[in-house]
Amino acid sequence: MAERPLTLMAVHAHPDDEATGTGGVLAKYADEGITTVLVTCTDGRCGDGPGGVKPGEPGHDPDAVAEMRLRELEASCAALKVTHLEVLGYPDSGMMGWPANDAPGSFWTTPVQDAAQRLAELIGKYEPDVIVTYDENGFYGHPDHIQAHRITMAAVELTGSPAKVYWTTVPRSGMEAFGRKLRELGVEFPEPDPDEPPAGPPMGLPDEEISTWVDTKAYGSQKFDALAAHASQGENIFFLRMGKETFTELMGVETFVRVRDTTGAPLPERDLFAGLR
Ligand SMILES: [Zn+2]
Repeated sequence: MAERPLTLMAVHAHPDDEATGTGGVLAKYADEGITTVLVTCTDGRCGDGPGGVKPGEPGHDPDAVAEMRLRELEASCAALKVTHLEVLGYPDSGMMGWPANDAPGSFWTTPVQDAAQRLAELIGKYEPDVIVTYDENGFYGHPDHIQAHRITMAAVELTGSPAKVYWTTVPRSGMEAFGRKLRELGVEFPEPDPDEPPAGPPMGLPDEEISTWVDTKAYGSQKFDALAAHASQGENIFFLRMGKETFTELMGVETFVRVRDTTGAPLPERDLFAGLR
């Protein structure tokens, strides 16, 4: 067989999602000589503007925010040594229920097959062996994350590729440990109220349903730097306040569910490329 470098493709919704969910694996596999391709579907125009100005507030210029976030995305990719960045450039659809959901051309209103066709072309170009994206709830219900999931699975269907497909997830045990650690640090993190129904679909999975655990602690510093490149976004500042050491301790193992596999690699596994090398 011709020598072709192994290739990882991560499909994300917004600039900064690559850092939180897959910063560790992007850095680790690049370090191992694997080609890494990041596909970012939207321009992040519904994110915070400079100085933390929120969308819809005076001084929030969506075009300028999109431009700023592209620069941040490039800096994040440099920190993670991502080989190829591909931006699809769809307008960010905002959080579920926002008017931006239905803005003309928004990612959420784009027919799945149209965007999937563009992604299928990128799959043809890079021939990834592994693709990583979100689960059907987009992990926490953001419309752009749900759409990223849908177009990825449709593109996989169209191309019959790659060998392995994963959805990012978190172990419920890890979420409990995360909450405990934050309370130790004095960070406000409310205990779930057993009498309150959950606001959205449940996040994360029981540990035994997680197929793949990748230790990326050695790359915690790069992952932190990638997230720091997106410091304009309020929700990231929360993580950055932890400092590198705590951040790496809490975010240093990335977990996945394997949903497609042609290798027969036994589960659970500790490597997205198990069975491929
Ligand atoms: Zn996002």
